[in-house]
Amino acid sequence: MKRLVILGGGESGVGTALLGKAKGYEVFVSDKGRIKEKYKDVLLNNEIEFEDEKHTESKILNADIIMKSPGIPDKVDLVKEIHKAGIKVVSEIEFASKFTNATLVAITGSNGKTTTATLTHHLLKQELSVGLAGNIGDSFAKQVLDEDYKNYVLEISSFQLDDIIDFKPKIAVLTNITPDHLDRYDYKFENYIASKFRVVENQTEDDYFIYDSDDQVIEEWLQNNSIQSKKLPFSLTKVVEQGAYIDNNNIIITIDNNQIIMPTENITLEGKHNVKNAMAASTVAHLLKIRKQTIRESLENFQGVEHRLEHVLKINKVQYINDSKATNVNATYFALDSMDAPTVWIVGGVDKGNDYKELFPFVNEKVKAIICLGVDNAKLFEAFGNMVDVIIETEYMSEAVKIAYKVANTGDNVLLSPACASFDLFENYEDRGRQFKNAVRNL
Ligand code: ADP
Repeated sequence: MKRLVILGGGESGVGTALLGKAKGYEVFVSDKGRIKEKYKDVLLNNEIEFEDEKHTESKILNADIIMKSPGIPDKVDLVKEIHKAGIKVVSEIEFASKFTNATLVAITGSNGKTTTATLTHHLLKQELSVGLAGNIGDSFAKQVLDEDYKNYVLEISSFQLDDIIDFKPKIAVLTNITPDHLDRYDYKFENYIASKFRVVENQTEDDYFIYDSDDQVIEEWLQNNSIQSKKLPFSLTKVVEQGAYIDNNNIIITIDNNQIIMPTENITLEGKHNVKNAMAASTVAHLLKIRKQTIRESLENFQGVEHRLEHVLKINKVQYINDSKATNVNATYFALDSMDAPTVWIVGGVDKGNDYKELFPFVNEKVKAIICLGVDNAKLFEAFGNMVDVIIETEYMSEAVKIAYKVANTGDNVLLSPACASFDLFENYEDRGRQFKNAVRNL
């Protein structure tokens, strides 16, 4: 019997444990932190051995194969030991994809993964048997075990791609690449770029690569590296022969000799970035033969994902918008770009080395007041202090929303789009978004 050791007892770890056990492995789960009760119950009920709040090396270094949670960096001592011992290390998507013949759609990128994956799933599920997994919902491994989907849409981070070997999606989507998570890549942007491109490394000419061709980083990489996959670029600015582009407020999608045309007004989601996400998702749908009429209707009734430019409430004709998931400048760029009215902007948190320059034109043009919501707001004051009449700081969401309420006039927007991580004042971005929504509802 082969021994499968799983590092990390979260959603993907426990899913992999169940799948591994069902496939005849001797399974051991080890987590340095505390395993949540609900996952402990699953492991106990399925008689899977585990430990938490420690790693016992003797029970780990005897593995035939190790599944490492994407949260654990390679520089940790234990992982170094594992590599030194020559044990095969894989990620959950690598392990689970061996046990399904389904068509895999892998979606990666710095921003827009969840939105594009959720939208793609929404388009496909109208006509196909399809699961949504990866960083969303139930783990891929668990779904491979319990469900029998013919297709999967997988949201995939670069950390999951770092530990693939044979993982080969039929369709890979790369939404964009901007510097992020560089602490895990020796602070080298090129390492992070290479990691993202691993999504195509096992593809052949029968597989497809859908990508944002307006993204300079992606285009440059493709000029310097060759890939086997059939390329389907999408662009807002230029005509492409294969893939998707915009002509007169229509999205034109061409795959071989097969073209479909869809008005951009079918897209309910706001913002240029969401037109890009819709182009990517619709190209996948067109590839998988979803009918044009179905794609149009589904773009129209897709309501978006919580905490991504989510419209909360209109109070006294002021629209309150929750974009708490914007944890970097690029995401906030598209949020401000999509504002069509004077905006009171709530921003701040833990800054990952932000350069705010690219936001200046929008702030000058659209932002009437800035509310800094962070422990240290010095950089925001320095960047934007001279640009707006009102700039105020607070450490409380309820206060931030009350100030916004006072400053905003009829027709304005109040936008929470922090461009920063949330850990100084909140548990995570979801907590921050929920507190915003509660504060708005309490006005
Ligand atoms: P991810 O899963 O990659 O973090 P999300 O779909 O959760 O991406 O979106 C994260 C943030 O980025 C949100 O603020 C969202 O509005 C913004 N965003 C969504 N799509 C894009 C895109 N294509 N380019 C830039 N920003 C985007």
